[in-house]
Formats: sequence, C-alpha cells, structure tokens
Amino acid sequence: MDDGPWSAILDPTMKIGVLALQGDFAEHISMLKRLGVETAEVRLPEHLKNLDGLILPGGESTTIGKLAMAYQLMKPLQEFGRDHAVWGTCAGAIFLSKDVSRDQPLLGLMDITVQRNAFGRQVDSFETDLEIEELMKASGTEHPYHAVFIRAPIIESVQGKARPLATLEDGRIVAAQEGHLLATSFHPELTNDTRFHEYFISLAS
Ligand code: GLN
Repeated sequence: MDDGPWSAILDPTMKIGVLALQGDFAEHISMLKRLGVETAEVRLPEHLKNLDGLILPGGESTTIGKLAMAYQLMKPLQEFGRDHAVWGTCAGAIFLSKDVSRDQPLLGLMDITVQRNAFGRQVDSFETDLEIEELMKASGTEHPYHAVFIRAPIIESVQGKARPLATLEDGRIVAAQEGHLLATSFHPELTNDTRFHEYFISLAS
C-alpha cells in the first residue's frame, strides 16, 4: 500500500519528537521505534529543530506546564505547533488545549475545552473499546480500538475547526482533531496497537 495513508511510516527520514519533561515519554519513543521512524527526546527549544511532529505524553499536566515554563519551551512549542503535527495524550491533551477551567500553563494550540480527572475517584482508571471510524478507515482495519484511560480528562467541547474523533457510548468526547493537531484522553502508547501512532505519523508527513 505504497500510496496509502500509512506509507509515511516507511519514510526513514521522518523524525518525531516526544516532549520528555515528565510522564510516559519512553513508552511513546518505543512505539515510534517499532514503527521505524527516527525519534528525539525534547527537553530544550533546540531539540525541536528538524522534527516533523511532536508528541506530548501523559503524566501530570501542571508539572509538564511548569517545567515547560522553566525551560523556556512555551513559545517555541507554540510556534512549532502552528505548522507541525502535535499530538497530546491525556496530560498532553490538557497541555495542548485552550481551556481547562483552571489556572495552569497551557499551550492553547487546540480549540478544545478539557475537564481534568473527569471520571471521579472510584473509576479514575478503566479500559474500553472505541469505534473510531477515521482510524479504521485510514488503517483499512475493522476491529475497534482498545483504549486505556488513567485519571483521564474529557474533552468537554470542541470549537472552531476542531472536531470529535472518538466518543464514549454516552457521547462524551475522548479524542479530537484540528487539522494537524490531535488530542486523546487515553493512552495508545500503553497498548500494543500501533494504529494511533501510525495515524499521527500520517498527519506529520
Ligand atoms: N490527571 C492527569 C492531569 O490532570 C492526567 C493523567 C494522565 O496523563 N494519565 O494532568
């Protein structure tokens, strides 16, 4: 499938960075390596050079934001995201958003409103199968996507050009896309399913 959306993963010149300030960046890196793309851990503004895309990992969004401020990364990340693919998973999705109804450092790149820790204390971690049409279409597969949620946020609403990509059965949004920007409440890097990373790589190419 040379012309398919996944052909980008065969491109050996493709380089994807992962913000490596805090959280599960190592898991994203190993997923990307499995797919054969070059990777880079991003801790300083100069690490963004020559990247085709950037992943903001899960972890603790307030900590990630504070460290990004301390390392003078806020502006460089915002500039990078204007014309490059950026994907936030869980805490990364929070950091990528415009609004979380509380005061914490946000990149504000994606036109989504997010509610942190939206699933309450008893059920702050769970797994469920999602029917993600776009993902199945792009990968030419039919099986649902098994999603892992850990103290996960909900995407309360999408505005402007952002659109929902995946919802729970009750209609709550757990993945959204706005052009080359992607946000997921869940953690594809903690599964064996590479489809979401492949989808992101296709956005970055
Ligand atoms: N609860 C975390 C936050 O609000 C996100 C959790 C995660 O990334 N798994 O930042």
